[in-house]
Amino acid sequence: MNVTLSQQQADHAVKLDRLAETAVKVGLGLRKGQELVMTAPIEALELARRITAHAYKAGASLVTLVLNDDEQTLLRYREGADDSFDAAPGWLYEGMAQAYRNGAARLAIAGENPTLLSGEDPAKVSRANRARAKAYSPALELIASFSTNWTIVAAATPAWARCVFPDDSEELALAKLWNAIFSASRVDGGDPVGEWRRHNEALARRTSTLNARRFHALHFRSAGADLTVGLADGHEWAGGASTSKNGIVCNANIPTEEVFTTPHRLRVNGRVRASKPLSYMGALIEDIEVRFEDGVIVEANARKGVDVLRKVLETDEGARRLGEVALVPYSSPISKSGLLFYNTLFDENAASHIALGQAYSKCFVDGDKLSEAELDARGANRSLIHIDWMIGSADMDVDGLDSAGVRTAVMRAGEFVI
Ligand code: ZN
Ligand code: ZN
Repeated sequence: MNVTLSQQQADHAVKLDRLAETAVKVGLGLRKGQELVMTAPIEALELARRITAHAYKAGASLVTLVLNDDEQTLLRYREGADDSFDAAPGWLYEGMAQAYRNGAARLAIAGENPTLLSGEDPAKVSRANRARAKAYSPALELIASFSTNWTIVAAATPAWARCVFPDDSEELALAKLWNAIFSASRVDGGDPVGEWRRHNEALARRTSTLNARRFHALHFRSAGADLTVGLADGHEWAGGASTSKNGIVCNANIPTEEVFTTPHRLRVNGRVRASKPLSYMGALIEDIEVRFEDGVIVEANARKGVDVLRKVLETDEGARRLGEVALVPYSSPISKSGLLFYNTLFDENAASHIALGQAYSKCFVDGDKLSEAELDARGANRSLIHIDWMIGSADMDVDGLDSAGVRTAVMRAGEFVI
C-alpha cells in the first residue's frame, strides 16, 4: 500500500517536472537572459515553483510570480461595496504590459474553478469583467499580437477537479484531472520535447494545406449548425508553434490541437448551437444558440446563463462578431478522453469552434506589418473580449468555398478529409 502510494507520488512528481520543462522549453522557448512574468492560482504553487526552476536553468534573468486566490475573489462579492465592481488593478496590468514591451516572456497557469461566480449577481460579474478587460487590454493586445513569447499551461486544482469528476472523492478527482492534463499536454512519455516537435510538424502540414487553398468562406453543417463563416481577406491559418515578434518560437497553448484563422467580421451568416457548455469567468453558459446576419449576432439564446451571455454580447460593438474560427478533428485526444473540462484551454481543443471578439493579427499574411486600418479593411474584428465556444461534433461536415461558391470538402463527420 505504502509502496504503491509512493510510486504514484514519484510518478506524479516526474510528470509534473516534465510539464514544467515542456512549459519553459516548448511553451515559451525561453531565451537566455529573458525575464518571465508568471500568473497562477494559489493551488498551483508546486507547478509554479518547478517552472521557476526550469526557467532559471534555461537562463532566465528574473521570474516574477503573481498568485490568484479564488476565495479572495469571492470576498469582493460577499463584502465589497457596489462601486468596487467597476474597479480593476490597472497599475498591475500596465506594469505587466511594460514588462512585455521590455522583452519579458509571459506564462499563465490555468486552473480556475469553472463555477466560482455562477451563484453571483450576473450584473456585478459583468461589471467586474468589463473593468478588468478594459484595464487589461494594453497587456492583452501585446499578447494577442505576439509581441513577446507566451504560453498557458494547466494545473489541476481541487475545485476544478470536483467539477470534472463530481462523483469521485476530492483526492481521486485531483489525481484523475492531473492524469488528463499530463496526457493532453503530451508529457506522458519520456521525450515530451520530441513529441511536441512531431505534433507541431503535423499541425504545420495542416495549416499549409489550408493556406494553399485560400478559401473565401467555410460552411459548417450538422444537426446544430448551418453556418457560413466568411474568411478575412489575406487571412492565414495558424496552429501549433508560432514565431513571436522577438523571433522566439513558442507554443501559446499547452495542450493545442486546433488550426485557426480570422473570419471576416461582416460575412458570417446562419445559425449555430454550441456543442459544449462554456465556462466564462466563473459562470457556466449552456446550450448557446445564436443566429448571425452579415457578421452580427442578431439572436442569442442559452438554456442556462443566458443573462451572462447577453451581458457579454453587450461588452462593445465587436463582441457580437467573430474574431476566430478553428478546426479540430473529433478524434483529437482530448475529444477521445470523453471529458468535459469546463476550461477553454482543453475544451476548445476537443472540438471545432468559433470565438466572439478580438481577432489575432498573426492570422493574416504579414499580419505583424499591417496597421489597425489595414486589418479593419481586411475584415478583422476588434473587441475587448475573445471568447471561444465549441460548435464541432461527430456529425459535422465542413466545406471550403472559393469566391465563386465552388465547394471543397474539408471535414466529413468531424474528421479532416482535405
Ligand atoms: Zn481557438
Ligand atoms: Zn481563441
